Order: sequence, then C-alpha cells, then structure tokens
Amino acid sequence: MKGLRDLTIATLGSHSALQILKGAKDEGFKTLVISTPERLDLYRSYDNFIDEVVEIDFWKNFPKLEKELIKRNSIVIPHGSFVAYLGLDENKAMKVPYFGNKQVLDWEEDRKMQREWMEKADIKVPRRFKKGDKINRPVIVKSFGAAGGKGYFMARNQEEFDKKIQSYTAKRFMVQEYIIGVPIYFHFFYSPLTNKMEFMSVDKRYETNVDSLGRIPARNQKGLNIEPSFEVVGNIPLTIRESMMAEIMNMANRVVKVSKELISPKGLFGPFCLEAIVTSSEEIYVIEISARIVAGTNCFIDGSPYTYLLYDEPMSTGRRIAREIKLAVQKNKLDLILN
Ligand code: AMP
Ligand code: AMP
Repeated sequence: MKGLRDLTIATLGSHSALQILKGAKDEGFKTLVISTPERLDLYRSYDNFIDEVVEIDFWKNFPKLEKELIKRNSIVIPHGSFVAYLGLDENKAMKVPYFGNKQVLDWEEDRKMQREWMEKADIKVPRRFKKGDKINRPVIVKSFGAAGGKGYFMARNQEEFDKKIQSYTAKRFMVQEYIIGVPIYFHFFYSPLTNKMEFMSVDKRYETNVDSLGRIPARNQKGLNIEPSFEVVGNIPLTIRESMMAEIMNMANRVVKVSKELISPKGLFGPFCLEAIVTSSEEIYVIEISARIVAGTNCFIDGSPYTYLLYDEPMSTGRRIAREIKLAVQKNKLDLILN
C-alpha cells in the first residue's frame, strides 16, 4: 500500500455511507460509493466529498467489482448493510482490504456466541429461554443476524408464544426475556494503535410501532389487535447521566479485553455499540453488541458532546475510522487494522 492520497475509502451506499465518506474526505482520502440505480442521484448530489459513484444492479453482484476496487487501492469500510445485503459468507470472502476483524462477524451473528462473549465479560444479559424451558414471563423473539429489529415478536407467556410461533418464518431465533426499561445505544471506538477506548456518542432508536403505542391510551387500543413491532426508522441523539458513564466505559473495556481472548489475536477493534436496556433500578442489560459502526452515529456527523471532549474538531465515528487508517499508514501498521 502507498501513501494516503493513493488510497480510496469505499463503502456500500446505505446505512452510514455518507458519514463514512465525509469523514474519509475530511481526513484526506479519495472516496467511492457503490450504489444501486435508485440511489445514484442521492449519492451524486454529494460530489463535494464523494469522488466516485459506482453503479451496481444488485448487491449480490458485489464480487464482480472487487478487481476494480483492488486496482484503485481501496479499503472497504463495513457497516450494518454489509451482512444484511451481501450475506455473512460473501462478507468474509471479500478480497478487498477490509477495515476490522472479520472473525468478529461470526461472534456477532450467532446470538449464542454473542451471549458467551458478554457473559465472559461479566455483562448482564436478559435471560434466555432454551427449547423446552417454560416461558414464565414476557419474552421477545428475535431472528439471527442484523435486521434492524425486523421480524421480532413479543409474547406474554408460554401460551401466547406457542400460538405465535406457528406462523413465524425465521429458521433460527432466540427467545429472550423482555426487559422493562429504556433502550439506550452506546457507541465506542477502540484503537489498537493507541490501545485507547473512546466514548463516542449515545442514541436511542425510533422504532415503529412500539414507540407510538403510548400515544394511544390502552382503552382506545382495546379491540384494535395491535402487536408491538420493533423496526427502526430513525435515531435520536442522547446524553446520559454522567454517573452512568464510568460503568458503561468499564463494560466496553471488558468486552474488548475478553474479545482478545475469544477472537484472537486481534479481537474487537474500531467502532462498536453496546445496545442496552436500562431498568428503573438502573441495571444495565446488554441486549446486543454491534461490532461495527451503527446508524445511530449518524446523529453526530458534526461530532457529539462526547467527542467534543476528546477532539478540538468535529469527530464523527466515520471520520474516526478514517483517522485510524491515516494513523496506521503513518506508522506503517495497516496490517493491524485491515483484514
Ligand atoms: P436452541 O434450543 O436454543 O439451541 O435453538 C435451536 C432452535 O430451536 C432455534 O434456532 C429455534 O429454531 C428453536 N428455538 C429456540 N428457542 C426456542 C424456544 N424457547 N421454544 C421453541 N423453539 C425454540
Ligand atoms: P435489537 O435488534 O436486539 O437491537 O433489538 C431491537 C429493539 O427491540 C430494541 O431497540 C428494543 O426496542 C427491542 N428489544 C430487543 N430486545 C429486548 C429485550 N430483551 N427487552 C426489551 N426490549 C427489547
């Protein structure tokens, strides 16, 4: 690999691509987005920071572009749409240099492995109901893989679960205790170059229809037969009680430390998110870890209150990724952060 100006930061046109590419341009890289036909106009309208928009008919054709990307000295930045659009195996088979540790993908996708990771890191996770366990409290049923809360359902007890599971189409799923509290998403960046954990930002999701049910009083809901669903449509920025920050930071450090043992040798690095539910007794349950940039960081393209504490300039998570690559180029350590 050559100098900074010879490298192109590339990503798929979706999820947090704008943030990633704006950050890459701010750090001095060439930028490229791969876009499906209906999104071309959107990405072309940002010609102030996207140098090249490459069209693709279907996401599944991505492997055909790889040669071109390699020729341009590209580094691909993965985000939430990679596994969802390309599939886990295609993601792992990608030959273009890739920011992050691909081995983490298996631990992220498989909810059982994820759970083992969290438990080893001494993180509270909601109780899981295995096949044959009696469901004795409200549960949420989740399919495997990142799907933005799509296709989840809730059941109050065994009877309701038995009824609803009959028409459920997901082949692999997990049955999890439903935690009453507020969902909060904590964003971090861990640098293997500086060995430092950076508290980046916090968001909450705006999910349909669960976030709107409170607008309709229970008595008006009666008879409407509304089922809560959890599909994310947007994100809302948040700051948290400062007294909570230390605990969250310790949790993030433990997650990375354990990842170095489980997912050796590099473990988890770069951006990640602890997705939590905080209960009224201030217990923090982690319902999921996202081992990559999450879309909630889009609230902070201009930096967050927390990155303002660390940087004297607007620092988004996308820009932080580009900064890490820049640092690695300067230190001749790209091997440490690419896969
Ligand atoms: P497990 O028993 O957790 O190893 O899960 C194996 C498969 O059984 C899952 O992928 C689901 O298809 C199904 N499954 C998981 N949990 C439950 C449950 N509580 N009740 C019925 N089926 C389940
Ligand atoms: P996830 O895909 O795990 O990030 O979950 C998507 C959404 O489902 C969350 O933002 C919550 O609104 C809801 N959710 C997931 N797991 C739980 C849980 N164990 N208890 C309560 N709500 C949950």
